[in-house]
Amino acid sequence: MIKRPHIPLPMKRAVRQRCGFGCVICGSPVYHIDHMKPYSEEREHEEVNLTLLCPNHHEEKTKGLLPLAVVQEANLDPVNIKNGITTPYKLHYGRVGHECSVLIGSGRFTMAFDEKPKRMQAVVVDRTPLLMFELLDGHVYVSMALFDRFNQMMVLIDSNELVFTTAGWDYEFSGSTLVVRTAMGEVAAAIEFRPPAEIWFKTGELLLNGTGVRVNGGVLEIVTPGATISQSHMQYREMHGIVLGPSGPFVAPTENPIEPAGMRWERIDRVSDGGPG
Ligand SMILES: [Zn+2]
Repeated sequence: MIKRPHIPLPMKRAVRQRCGFGCVICGSPVYHIDHMKPYSEEREHEEVNLTLLCPNHHEEKTKGLLPLAVVQEANLDPVNIKNGITTPYKLHYGRVGHECSVLIGSGRFTMAFDEKPKRMQAVVVDRTPLLMFELLDGHVYVSMALFDRFNQMMVLIDSNELVFTTAGWDYEFSGSTLVVRTAMGEVAAAIEFRPPAEIWFKTGELLLNGTGVRVNGGVLEIVTPGATISQSHMQYREMHGIVLGPSGPFVAPTENPIEPAGMRWERIDRVSDGGPG
């Protein structure tokens, strides 16, 4: 039996970009690469013959319930490209175990589960939480905002609903890790989802308005010009993590607006050219 060769990586990326990083029919960012005309007939990987289908639509096509013509039509006009944003994907965060954790490089921010609603903001810039967990009605919600160096939104998680903008260069789900690239070899972020209660920001930058945090060689750093503030073993429990910029009430005011934070830096210098050099 002749082994079927792998689809070359640049070809996979071209297909992702053309299809809007999701199923061409429903937009789901969890998908297979589908040979519209079966590989057994074509005997080669041809980019124009490849498309993205979620497991459901892929199965329907395989069973003959989804006609090839419908897939081909969607392939020419993918739903995510039309919308400029991917269809929301629900991350399976919930409440199993004793606590939830945000890991940023080697930094760890932890919140124990209890009965009262609460939140733990791992990184806040200018009152905007960039990565946080929230406990509401006994359920765990993760929220994240990933901006590029020009404050353009790339990835948004709003209470467990994940979307990314299709104007971005590349988004690739590799297992449960989302890799965001802004150009060839330029990884803006790699985020591993570990539902039900953990998220790991493995590499990249969480920035807003010229400051924030980055993970460099596994170590968490505060982004500010002219200084490298590395936090090799930052660990906080039951409090916010790194709060940069003016404090005061957070986006959603709470009963106690000045909540404890592991590190609070109100007058942090900003990187003015749109990002660290
Ligand atoms: Zn689909």
